[in-house]
Amino acid sequence: MKLKVELVPPESRKERPEDPLSLEFGSVFTDHMFAMFYADNEWKNPRIGPYSNLSLDPAALCLHYGQGIFEGLKSYRRGERVFLFRPRKNLERLNASAIRMVMPQIDIDFALEALIELLRVERDWIPELKGSSLYVRPTMIATEPKLGVRASHTYLYYVILSPVGPYFKEGFSPVKIMVSEKYVRAADGGVGQAKTIGNYAASLLGGKEAMERGYSQVMWLDSHERKYIEEAGTMNIFVLFDDELATPPLSGTILPGITRESAMQIAQDWGYSLNERPIAIDEVIDGIKSGKVKEIFGTGTAAIIAPIGELYFREKPHIVGDGTIGALSQRMFDELTGIQSGEREDTRGWVFEIE
Ligand SMILES: *Cc1c(COP(=O)(O)O)cnc(C)c1O
Repeated sequence: MKLKVELVPPESRKERPEDPLSLEFGSVFTDHMFAMFYADNEWKNPRIGPYSNLSLDPAALCLHYGQGIFEGLKSYRRGERVFLFRPRKNLERLNASAIRMVMPQIDIDFALEALIELLRVERDWIPELKGSSLYVRPTMIATEPKLGVRASHTYLYYVILSPVGPYFKEGFSPVKIMVSEKYVRAADGGVGQAKTIGNYAASLLGGKEAMERGYSQVMWLDSHERKYIEEAGTMNIFVLFDDELATPPLSGTILPGITRESAMQIAQDWGYSLNERPIAIDEVIDGIKSGKVKEIFGTGTAAIIAPIGELYFREKPHIVGDGTIGALSQRMFDELTGIQSGEREDTRGWVFEIE
C-alpha cells in the first residue's frame, strides 16, 4: 500500500495555541489526519490529508451498535527530537480489541509508518513545555449502513492528534475517588479488556454521580460480588501495602494498560515485591485504617501516575496515608515521565524516536 500525502497549504493552516497550559484535554486538533478504508477484505487508500469531518451514512453500524475501538498514546518533543512511548504496544492492543469486536486487523508496521509520517508533518504542533505532549488517537469504526445487528463489512481507521498540556496543571497532586457499588464498568465475559467505545458510555453515569459529590473519578468493583477493586476511572490501579505493591490481575474485565505494565516492570527493578492479585475493597479500607496501605495510585497515558489521596466508600471518606503524594507515586511519576520525554535514560528500549 502506498501512503498518499495531501498537505494543507501553509496559509490555510490553523493558528497553533501558544500556551499549552491553557489547553483543555482533547479539544484542539492539528491540521492533518491519517485515514484508510476497509472493504472487500482489505485496507485501501491510506492517506494523510486535511483534518476534516467524516462523511458517514446515518445507518453506519458504529452509530447504532457501538462497533468501534480506539487507542491513546502521547508523542513528546525535546528540542528537535520527537519521541513515542512503546507505540507498537498500542497498535497490538488495537488489534486485540479488534478481535473481540469482530473487526479487521491492521498491519502494525504500516500503521506505525503512517503514524510516524503524520507526526513528521505535524512536528511543530508538539508542545515543548514539560509535561505537555501531542496526544495521538487511533480509531477504528464500522461504517457499513445496516440496521441488522451483525459485524460490518466496511471500516474506517483514522488517526487524529491533539496537543495537550500537563494533566496536573497546578502541579502533580492527589485525586479523590469514589468507590461505586451501584454501577460496574465491565462484567465477566464482556468487553472490559477491549478499548471499545461502549465501555466509556457505560461509565458516564457513575462518573457524573461521583462528580456531584466532589470526586473526580469512580473506583470500579468486580461485577460479580462487588468485592474486588478493578480500575479507577480510565486508569489501572495499584495499592502499596507496606512493601508489597499489588495490582489486580488481567482477569478479562480490566484494560491491559501499557502504563500499568511499565510501572510493574519498574517497581520490580526497584526491588518491590510486586503481585498481580485480587484486592478486596475491604482489605484496602482496613489497610487505610491500620496504616498498612501506604499509597494508592492510578496509571494511564493521560495522567501517567495519579496519586489517590482519598477514597469514598459506603458514605465515608477515607484518607490514604496523610492525603499527600506518596514517595513511590512521586518516584514512579518522575521516572516514567522522564523516560517518556527523553530526559531520563531508557534502559528498557521503550522509547521510540522519530527521525
Ligand atoms: C486506556 C485505558 C487504561 C490505561 O491504559 P494505558 O495503556 O496505560 O494508557 C486503563 N483503563 C482503561 C479503562 C482504559 O481505557
